[in-house]
Amino acid sequence: MSNTIAHKATTALIFCVDDRLKGAYEQWRQRVAGSDAYDVRWVGAGLDFVKDDTRDIMLAGLAKLKGLGVTKVVVIDHLDCGGAKADYEASGHDEITFHAGVLRQAQANIEALGFEVETYLVDLTGNEVALPELTTV
Ligand SMILES: [Zn+2]
Repeated sequence: MSNTIAHKATTALIFCVDDRLKGAYEQWRQRVAGSDAYDVRWVGAGLDFVKDDTRDIMLAGLAKLKGLGVTKVVVIDHLDCGGAKADYEASGHDEITFHAGVLRQAQANIEALGFEVETYLVDLTGNEVALPELTTV
């Protein structure tokens, strides 16, 4: 990253901390934000922006980035996510449908803060996984 100006990024990229995704993370960072993005690496990516016990604090943290000039938030969930596994197994949905529901709700919650939002689901190599039309999760 060649950015030498503090707090200059206009995009926040929310991506799971899963170490298997290091290559995918860099690839997606370039795709959605060039080198100009804040890294918001968090276990389970979008999930905690949706769950009742974590949503408000996560959104409050994200809202802080607005004051730094961030206008776009990109949320990227991934398959085989240890941070989401218990929740999707408890949901009764298949993994892809579960993530589609999480990403749709995360998008709505983050858009309510006034950000432009993009969401994606990827496999462990970083390939985009098509999301089904939804349903409620
Ligand atoms: Zn994960």
